[in-house]
Amino acid sequence: MKTIKGQMFKKFFGIFLVLFIFANSLPTASATAEDKKVQRGEVHALWAHPPDVGMTAESVRAFVAQCKRAHIDVIVMDVKDSIGALYWKSKRFPQAIAKGYENFDMLEHLVRESHAVGIKVDAWLVDYMEGANGAAFREHPEWAQLNPDGETTLSEKLGKKNPYPYVWMCPARRPGYTDQWLIPLYEEIVANYKVDSVHHDYVRYMGDVAPEGYCFCDYCLKHIPRHAMLSYETRPEERYRVKPGQPRIEANWWSDPTMLPADWDKRDRREKADYILNGSTIPGGPADMRYFFYDYRTHQIEKFVRETTEAVKRINPKVGVSAAVFKNPITSARFIGQHWDQWIPWIDVYMPMTYRSHFAGSFESYLDHLTESTERQMEWIRRGRPLYAGIASNYLYREEYQPFDDMRDRIGEFQALPVADTKGRAEKANAIKAAYETMRQRLTQFAPEREREIGSLVNTVTVNDGRSTTPAQLDELAKKIAAFRVDPPKEFFPAEKLKRSIEAARKAKPDGIIIFAGGSLTREKLWQVLEEEFKD
Ligand SMILES: [Zn+2]
Repeated sequence: MKTIKGQMFKKFFGIFLVLFIFANSLPTASATAEDKKVQRGEVHALWAHPPDVGMTAESVRAFVAQCKRAHIDVIVMDVKDSIGALYWKSKRFPQAIAKGYENFDMLEHLVRESHAVGIKVDAWLVDYMEGANGAAFREHPEWAQLNPDGETTLSEKLGKKNPYPYVWMCPARRPGYTDQWLIPLYEEIVANYKVDSVHHDYVRYMGDVAPEGYCFCDYCLKHIPRHAMLSYETRPEERYRVKPGQPRIEANWWSDPTMLPADWDKRDRREKADYILNGSTIPGGPADMRYFFYDYRTHQIEKFVRETTEAVKRINPKVGVSAAVFKNPITSARFIGQHWDQWIPWIDVYMPMTYRSHFAGSFESYLDHLTESTERQMEWIRRGRPLYAGIASNYLYREEYQPFDDMRDRIGEFQALPVADTKGRAEKANAIKAAYETMRQRLTQFAPEREREIGSLVNTVTVNDGRSTTPAQLDELAKKIAAFRVDPPKEFFPAEKLKRSIEAARKAKPDGIIIFAGGSLTREKLWQVLEEEFKD
């Protein structure tokens, strides 16, 4: 009975809330622009990269004007990129300033131009990723994360064969990257620029490439067992065995056995890592040690989020903290240490990247899953903070991009084949033809001249089963394909897909919508969609 009553209350409260929001969304004659935005109940934001705004005062102004026409309220601008380069005139870390930006303070220009037209700026930092030649790793290789073999993330592979180009830094180590480099970067921005908020990205472990691999640096090997208090630091020589009172051996966990093996200090990195990933806390019990590994990682990321917010608010309590997070905080906690639903005390706005690239199904399935995921995200944080649904425009066009990628890949494979391999060449020639067929109709419709041009090149490289095809011909086709990809004709990427995605996110009634990213809107020629969809 109590439960039913509770449900009834929730239901009525829900209806009341909807009516309340609806009543609030009706515009009044006296409303200012700012009021209107609040009443609309939907903030519009955009992720953008330095190349989007250019390197002159005029180009920054032009970009901001484009954002204004698209009714963008917040620009989330990348100011520390994935190789650790900075896009402001850092006094503390001048050695990390991006090449070419030594005399152009992009952040300063952007903040000034944006504020002049009433747009807010979030300074977006890629947190734990650095470049192999970046200043942080060059000066402090000891701050990098290590795998059980004692190697950095540079030893990983992207896909089957490409070397992984980024260095992930250890979030846990103190003193280390977190307290000596990353948090000071946040502090410098807030102290010197009038940004409205700072913005976390890559606020996690590198789990997408090696979910179980990191970090096993010396600091972490010591602190993972310490985090879980698997042994006592007082009377370390006293070790206790499990008292088998209950028949299920793990049910005796509370009898206080010493969980860290007696020979721990004598084990090498690989043995310690193996125990942390595969050991049993209770001898004879389940292999549950890695629970503490996951808990340690989520704890380290949460600690960093808390410390950053405390540092930022100490300098200026009015500056906000927002974060780009993966779509599901529960699976993210396990795979990348990102238990973001637990960061409510330190995050002012959540911006989950609910991109189509993180969903397996068709475009139509994505629309439903986007609504469902956004609803669940707000449920996970119990609506304790504003949440903006993050949509990546480029990933919406999987079907449209696929034939280009297929052609590019097949051309590459063709180029690698010896002239004598007639069977292999015929196979690649036919695959190129087939990929081209899947895009030919759209090309004819939106760019008939380019269809003729690309079509005739496809004929040249595929005629006669590719027996007489030359590397120069393949190169020319590859170049044409690449050029088309960066500058497709208008409407080649259907505006409908972005519109329907925004509508799908809206069904969940998020506090805002954020689009990734400025550059892809330009490339795919989709600014018009925002100009219409984001109009009050
Ligand atoms: Zn570490």
